[in-house]
Formats: sequence, C-alpha cells, structure tokens
Amino acid sequence: MIEATEKTRNGVVSVEEAEGLLVSRALPPGKEVVELSQALGRTAAEAYVSPFSMPPFRRAAMDGYAVKTIDTLGASPEQPVLLFVESELKAGQSAEGVQGFSSERSAVRVFTGSPVPASFDSIIIQERVRRVIGEDGIGVAQIDRPAERGQHIAEPGKDIPECSLLLKQGKRIGPKEMALLASFGFERVSVHTKPTVAVLPIGEELVLPGQPLLPGRIYDSNGFMLEASLKEMGATVRRLPPCADREDEIARLIDQAWETADLVVTTGGVSVGRYDYAKPAAELAGAEPLFTKVLMRPGTPTSAYARGAKTLIALSGNPSACFAGLELLVKPYVRKAYGSDSYLNEWESGVLEEGVSKPCPYPRYIRSRVRPAGGAWSLTPLPNDRSGNIAAFSGAGALAMIPAGGQGAAAGQSVRWLRLT
Ligand code: AMP
Ligand code: MG
Repeated sequence: MIEATEKTRNGVVSVEEAEGLLVSRALPPGKEVVELSQALGRTAAEAYVSPFSMPPFRRAAMDGYAVKTIDTLGASPEQPVLLFVESELKAGQSAEGVQGFSSERSAVRVFTGSPVPASFDSIIIQERVRRVIGEDGIGVAQIDRPAERGQHIAEPGKDIPECSLLLKQGKRIGPKEMALLASFGFERVSVHTKPTVAVLPIGEELVLPGQPLLPGRIYDSNGFMLEASLKEMGATVRRLPPCADREDEIARLIDQAWETADLVVTTGGVSVGRYDYAKPAAELAGAEPLFTKVLMRPGTPTSAYARGAKTLIALSGNPSACFAGLELLVKPYVRKAYGSDSYLNEWESGVLEEGVSKPCPYPRYIRSRVRPAGGAWSLTPLPNDRSGNIAAFSGAGALAMIPAGGQGAAAGQSVRWLRLT
C-alpha cells in the first residue's frame, strides 16, 4: 500500500483523502506553443501581461464631432456656436499631423473608434449637433450647448493600462480570455500540454451502439460519458471498446493503455463479486493499490492503483456510481494534470428542498436540481436517483452530499453540494 496512514490503512479512504491522493499523483504538465485560435479550452502555461495600453490611442467612443471645450463655452439654443468642420477622421486612420487646424473654432468629424487628435478634448455626439451646413458632416456645425471636457473620449490605457495582468498562469482560456489575448495581438500562446487518459469499460454484458442488443446485454454508456466529460475538460481521450470480465485480458489492456496514457479509468468489475476483476487485474499489471474503498455511496468499491508515474482509477459500473467517481475523483486529477490553478472540487452550501430517506453509513452523493431561492441555493434531489439508474442524469445540476450517519436528511437541512457542468 502506497502512503498508508492511519486512515488509509486497509485501503479505506474518505472522498477528500482519495481526491488528495490522486491529485498528488497528477504529473506536472509540459508546455507547448499553439496558435491563438487553437488555445481555446487550454490552460495558460505563463502569465500574460498587456504589452501596451488599451485603447492604444485616444479614441472616440461615439459618432460625432471632436471639439475644443473652450470654443463651445456659452453655447445655447438662443446663442449657438458655429464650428468649422474641415475634415473627418475615420476609424483606422491616424490622427498624426491632425492638430489644431488653421481656424479657431474648428471641429473634426469623428466616428466610434476614430482617433481623436491631441488638441481636441471632447466629443459632441452627432445627435446633439443641431444643423450641419455642408456635405457629409463637413462644413459648419451648429452647437447649442457647451461640450463637457473628456466626454466620449477614451484615453489610452483607460480600459487596460500597459503591464496589467491579463491572464494568470493556470487560467483556462475561454472566449473571454481569447478576446483579451487577441486584443493585444498575441499570435501564439504558451499553453500546458493535454493529459492523455484511456477509458476502459469492463463487463461481459456491454456492447457498443451499432451492435445488436442480444438478451441480457446493455449498451456501454459509462465509456461514452467518461470520454465526453474528459474531452470537454480538454484531455486527449482514448475510449477502448468494452472488455469482457477476464483478469488477464483486463491486465493486458491496462498495461497497453499505460504506454500512451498517464491515467487509465476503468468502469465496472471493481466490486467483490465473483466476476469482478478490475482490482486483481491492476495488480497483475504490476500496480500497487492507493486505496481500495472510498467512504461514499454510491461507488464504495472505487479504487485506485499506481505503477511508477502511471495511475489507474477503477470506478464502479453502476452509472450513478461511475458518475460520482468521475466528478469527485477523476476530474480533480485531470484538472491538476492539465495545469489548472484550481483543481480541487469546490463545494458550496445549500438547503435541501425535499428530504432524503436512505440509510447513510457513508456520505451519500445524490444528483439534484439546484436553484437560487431567498439568497441561498435550494437543492431538490432528483427522483429515481438509484445507483443503477440513468434517469437522474437529465436535469441534474448538482451533486448534493448527504452526511454520513443516519437515515438520510430532512427537508430544510443544509448540505454541501458540487456544481455539475
Ligand atoms: P459492475 O460494477 O460491473 O458490478 O456493474 C454494475 C452495474 O452497472 C451492472 O448492472 C452493469 O451491467 C452496469 N454497468 C457496468 N458497466 C457499465 C457501462 N459501461 N455502462 C452502463 N452500465 C454499466
Ligand atoms: Mg460487472
């Protein structure tokens, strides 16, 4: 037994201990440089800092006229001020060389995104310019109220000053982070390498979609769920076809999968039934147990094994137990292996809307609906949340934890819960 402590003796651990043991085994990820558009869903391998100010130049925030405030003092509908509009600056043009202009009381026609020359200090929006004599806004503009200094002008750095932190190392790059990086012209991004995970469904009864459902057979659903979830997290996933309940065959497949994957996740055959071979197969493949029982329901037989840097997580075959194991134990490992800065599960607290009457020798994790109610989170356990059922997958937004000891929990009791994504 690896790292056996008082609590982990005999391979029995709490969910938190199992999570801790697994994340401590996740290898630190490598780095690679990818094109910006390829960085979606990856984790930043470095911190990114703004290399210049945003906006990079004085910029008009509205369509209108750049003016000098001083020229508009005293303007009123009775005594309007006339400004000479000699030129326009479109978005994309340079304001360089466009200075005070020849005449006093001059203005420049500008548009949202246009540069604003240094000698102008306000923008009067076009709707406020009473009348323009001339063509296309060039000519004479009639202003009937004073301009306010600085109005509708975004000064350089007003949005993001130079040298501001854009992205911490370990931050997942989503569309918002993409926009930040693109705004500063980052063409390529340094990201962490993806972990490779192999998924192995175990069970004589399992067939793949496309195959006939002979009597006694079921379609493998856990394999697809694990593959989808891990891919969504950004891992490279190899889902293997279901394997029969044969110790030597399972051992061979685990051994082979470890050649390319640091983590192998099996589902099924981890219990103590006559045909449950996940555990002996792991040992046959040369692995040592990290834990062989987790104090949780469903999924008590969930186990983990290690061989050198390679890790195996053996999940139950029951869909709800497999799901709980994925959320509670597999995901934290994968997040850490992916270089994420927050890899441990983050629990929130909420109030049970309905009671749960099931004996709880161990903490019980139940699929629930979650909604905000009166400043707190309200959790409604889904009907049909039985270990072997898949019905409770639809609508489940949370995994609520009913504490150990007792016959369940009463409505109104406060519980910890994990958001399902
Ligand atoms: P086991 O963990 O092998 O004892 O399986 C427990 C229950 O889950 C049995 O009813 C299995 O048929 C079912 N099961 C096992 N593996 C899968 C799978 N990959 N997809 C769907 N159900 C499964
Ligand atoms: Mg089985």
